[in-house]
Amino acid sequence: MTTMPQSRVHELHQLINQYNHQYYVLDEPTVPDAEYDRLMNELIALEKENPALKSIDSPSQKVGGEALKSFSQVTHQLPMLSLDNVFDLADFHAFVKRIKDRLATSNTLQFCAEPKLDGLAVSLRYEQGVFVQAATRGDGTVGENITQNIRTIKSIPLKLQGELGVDYPEIVEVRGEVFMPKASFEQLNELAKKRDEKVFANPRNAAAGSLRQLDSKVTAKRNLAFYAYSLGFVGESAIETAEPSAVLEKFFANSHYQRLCQIKALGLPMCPEVKLLASEDDCEAFYEDILTKREQLSYEIDGTVLKVDDISLQKQLGFVARAPRWAIAFKFPAQEELTVVEDVEFQV
Ligand code: NAD
Repeated sequence: MTTMPQSRVHELHQLINQYNHQYYVLDEPTVPDAEYDRLMNELIALEKENPALKSIDSPSQKVGGEALKSFSQVTHQLPMLSLDNVFDLADFHAFVKRIKDRLATSNTLQFCAEPKLDGLAVSLRYEQGVFVQAATRGDGTVGENITQNIRTIKSIPLKLQGELGVDYPEIVEVRGEVFMPKASFEQLNELAKKRDEKVFANPRNAAAGSLRQLDSKVTAKRNLAFYAYSLGFVGESAIETAEPSAVLEKFFANSHYQRLCQIKALGLPMCPEVKLLASEDDCEAFYEDILTKREQLSYEIDGTVLKVDDISLQKQLGFVARAPRWAIAFKFPAQEELTVVEDVEFQV
């Protein structure tokens, strides 16, 4: 019976790789996220029980996507990672314990608490304060160049506010989520139905399909929005160094929350629900509060993201293969399970 876990791991690799391709490359998921998450969690559990079965090409070790060849490609100077997930409070506490053990501390930790926006991760690059390039996450290392499409999103500034060398350095990458507000999604699908065209499965799918259009005139009609949630590469001269931390420390605070406020002051939209929490004990109340507000929010979310606020602690904690150790997505219970996707057709 020793071959059983091995064959199941193989089967899970194949299934998850297939679903990743349908979701990230084709923007056409064929199973609900809850089913995907179950398979991924099964794989992670099997790999934990049987460490020899954890290969470097396992989907559990990779950031999901892949850049479409029809776009030019952008190599990220700093990788764009994913997030590890928890689904209940016990697992969130286990996450906090792991962090504290690693930091060898029993001190209270401040958290930057954010809604988990259900859209598409992008990296926006500003040089001398001017927007020059935007890229999707892709496989985390190489993404698609979607600069022209991002230019059509009205809330993304083409020039940063403030003064070069005082408020921001020569190169600033801002990362965040492009999403389609619920109202725009409904209008888009209403129109598609009237015209007897295909409809999108959900706002995330619609945002991804709209952003990865070869004709930016189509993107311009789609009413996309953006919230920033972190910095990417930051540098002081065109001669780009691999060690940007000195520039980061010169211009940006040692707090993730304060950094988001600085990014907002540069003119980029920040989600109004983001909060700085005084301790890990406040995370549960934040999760409950956002879950209660979920229906009233004008955009789709699928959980909260809780990030250790202190940047020097983030640095000490570092990263695993596909995600930072200092952040976790605390996801909401699945809304749709196995219903939504089957009867719906998609369009890119
Ligand atoms: P993820 O969506 O679980 O988490 C990482 C992403 O969260 C980031 O890349 C970023 O885009 C986003 N994010 C939103 N708000 C954020 C915030 N405040 N701070 C930081 N990041 C934030 O990870 P993923 O690797 O993009 O996708 C995995 C998930 O996608 C799965 O759990 C599943 O739900 C879904 N998926 C579904 C299928 C399917 O076939 N249905 C296939 C692949 C993936």
